[in-house]
Amino acid sequence: MNGADAQSPVIVVGAGLAGLTCALDLVRAGLPVRVLEAADEVGGRVRTDRRDGFLLDRGFQVFNTSYPQVKRRIELPRLRLRPFTPGVLIHTAEGGRIRFTDPTRRPSDALALLTGKQDGKPGTGPGPLALAALGPLCALDLLAPPRLLKRLPELTTREELARWRVPDRVVDGFLRPFLAGVFLEDDLDTSSRMFHLTWRSMLRGTLTLPADGMGAVPRQLAEGLPPGCVERASPVAALSAAGVTFADGSAADARAVVVATDAAAARSLVPGLPAVATRTVTTYHHAATRSPLREPTLLLDARRRILNTCVLTEVAPTYSADGRALISTSVLGTDAPGREAALREVLAELYATGTRDWERVGTTTVAGALPAMVPPWPLSRTGRTASGVYVCGDHRATGSVQGAMASGTRTARELLADLRRP
Ligand SMILES: Cc1cc2nc3c(=O)[nH]c(=O)nc-3n(C[C@H](O)[C@H](O)[C@H](O)COP(=O)(O)OP(=O)(O)OC[C@H]3O[C@@H](n4cnc5c(N)ncnc54)[C@H](O)[C@@H]3O)c2cc1C
Repeated sequence: MNGADAQSPVIVVGAGLAGLTCALDLVRAGLPVRVLEAADEVGGRVRTDRRDGFLLDRGFQVFNTSYPQVKRRIELPRLRLRPFTPGVLIHTAEGGRIRFTDPTRRPSDALALLTGKQDGKPGTGPGPLALAALGPLCALDLLAPPRLLKRLPELTTREELARWRVPDRVVDGFLRPFLAGVFLEDDLDTSSRMFHLTWRSMLRGTLTLPADGMGAVPRQLAEGLPPGCVERASPVAALSAAGVTFADGSAADARAVVVATDAAAARSLVPGLPAVATRTVTTYHHAATRSPLREPTLLLDARRRILNTCVLTEVAPTYSADGRALISTSVLGTDAPGREAALREVLAELYATGTRDWERVGTTTVAGALPAMVPPWPLSRTGRTASGVYVCGDHRATGSVQGAMASGTRTARELLADLRRP
């Protein structure tokens, strides 16, 4: 940057997954790096709070073991991962419950999928039509290399599922309720390329929770940085010709600056960045003396009154210190008066149990939880900008753990190439 010499550090603004990943690569290349984080802890959108003996992730999130960046950078055993069962349970519009699963993972469910019989009742399960439609699609996503999936024609997910002739019954009964919880929208407006990549990661990976909560993932990344490299509670107010200016008016010089914040903060720091529409989600945490579902699985609602619900302590008992069950339920949009009370009624129906004595432990609304990845959505954008500042984050790739880390990786690579240029 103008006014800063080659001995100045590279400053990374933001210690979310993108910023931490970028910083790790810059440090590995031998550069002095300062990571300036506004919050009191690393992780950004991936954080876990401790409250009343419970681990509360900031919104319901899952850790997918198949993401390439995860495989490359995370020591999985240190996270003590606890798996969800493969597949999901769906509360049908008629009030029954069916299981939708990948039969290669749970061969015992293959017959139910094939015959459409669930719990011995005919015609309630997905049936052979579903398998005929989803089989080829799953084969493509499972076997084709990502570079090919990224080059498929780009439609909305809704249009893509129609192109594959997936029956409405399967789309509305399973895919839409499931994907709503992944993309945080229930119109299937998300780019079909994002859908294929996400579906691939579901087919190839295992959905898990770290025993210490999702926040253990960015904490592990931060531990790979030199001591003192991450400066918490250090909000950057503006960028300057020589580096950055802090909210308290003090300044820091930088050889280069990487803005690794969420999209809105990046736009306020770097004029000229495009606006990015985002999705909002609210997660309610309830405690119950008895678990309402003795299985580590996701429960969906075909009527889409919620995005998903699950008993977190069935997945990771460490989420509760006193043995009580911790239930997480997510809905689209923000909290509002009366919404939690209405939600209890829905949960009573879904879990077929009383919910009046459940204790509300926490409510988390995340505005800007994910970028709205509607077509055309480039799956990877350069970190270089016209102003000379670098920008990374999930809004420059895909709204996911993989996307954020991949964006950080790409930006570090580009910055290092620029610094080496004579
Ligand atoms: C509720 C929820 C559920 C999700 N579920 C999943 C899931 O199951 N699987 C999946 O793969 N992905 C999931 N995601 C998406 C994934 O968590 C995000 O895509 C990813 O964490 C984004 O990381 P990031 O580094 O790009 O941005 P962020 O995490 O937003 O990090 C940006 C950082 O910049 C800091 N910052 C901002 N402004 C400043 C400033 N002025 N000065 C200094 N620091 C600043 C912030 O405090 C923050 O720490 C979910 C997201 C949410 C919110």
